[in-house]
Amino acid sequence: MNQEYLDSLLKEIKKVWKNYHPPRNKNILFHGIHFAGGEPFLNFPLLLHAVKRAKELDLYIGYVETNASWCINREDVHEKFYLLKSAGLSKIFISCSPFHTERIPLKRTLLAIEVALEVFGKENVIVYMEHFLPKIAKIDIENPIPLEKWIEIYGEKAAGYIFWEGYALIPGGRSGFHLGHLFPRYPAEVFREENCKFEILESQHAHFDLYGNYIPYFCGGVSLGKIEDLEEFYKNFDLEKLPFIKILVEEGPYGLSKYAQKLGFKESKDGYVGKCHLCVDVRKFLNDVFPYSQELNPKDFYRFLF
Ligand code: SF4
Repeated sequence: MNQEYLDSLLKEIKKVWKNYHPPRNKNILFHGIHFAGGEPFLNFPLLLHAVKRAKELDLYIGYVETNASWCINREDVHEKFYLLKSAGLSKIFISCSPFHTERIPLKRTLLAIEVALEVFGKENVIVYMEHFLPKIAKIDIENPIPLEKWIEIYGEKAAGYIFWEGYALIPGGRSGFHLGHLFPRYPAEVFREENCKFEILESQHAHFDLYGNYIPYFCGGVSLGKIEDLEEFYKNFDLEKLPFIKILVEEGPYGLSKYAQKLGFKESKDGYVGKCHLCVDVRKFLNDVFPYSQELNPKDFYRFLF
């Protein structure tokens, strides 16, 4: 994301969120803005700028999210956390799961937590998910742990439970295809009553990517449009102009699969772990048929699925 786009996005958010206060009934994870990635510390000057700019605009910052991959040197971690705190950041979110330790040794996560506690204080450090810390520590602290190692230790069934239930995994990306065999799968028809009205229109949770896509909820690869002027975007939003998304809102991915079947889509014989798994399978097919569809964006989401 470049600085110009980030600045304009924050200004636009301010226009839409004039008098924002975090809703009490909402989980703290969904309060205000969070800066995430990818990994936002990969471009620390931009991250620091983002926090400063959001503060100047008096925007409510929920937290900055990190996978701790960069946490190697204690002084460096301290300096970066301290600079963010001084710029007005109150909370930090540190990811911890078998999917993170697949690439990131636990010792980096532990260093991030230790320094974060010092700088931000206990109540302002979110470790997501903390219950994985002892499980991972028992396997290996120094090195990354391939997912196969979990399967070797726990067996397929228990490892599947750890991955899917333990991390509350949403199969809205590659997970359904790569890890679906470790969890119960169902025919597409099982999801026929599940539409996506809440996720797309009502969740009040969205992501903005570096290309300007407005991604609802956790629906990677679904774009409600490009954001240049957020106020205008809300004013002019018209579901009728988004044929695939309209089907998802009204009939869910099962409805979309019925539409895609007329074009040649074939449901997986192995079934699906959840409605989002079915959705991604159908959208991958539709993206091949309609490679220029603006609703199916960013394009790399589909390019790197398998
Ligand atoms: S099924 Fe598709 S549109 Fe619905 S919540 Fe999952 S990813 Fe989003």
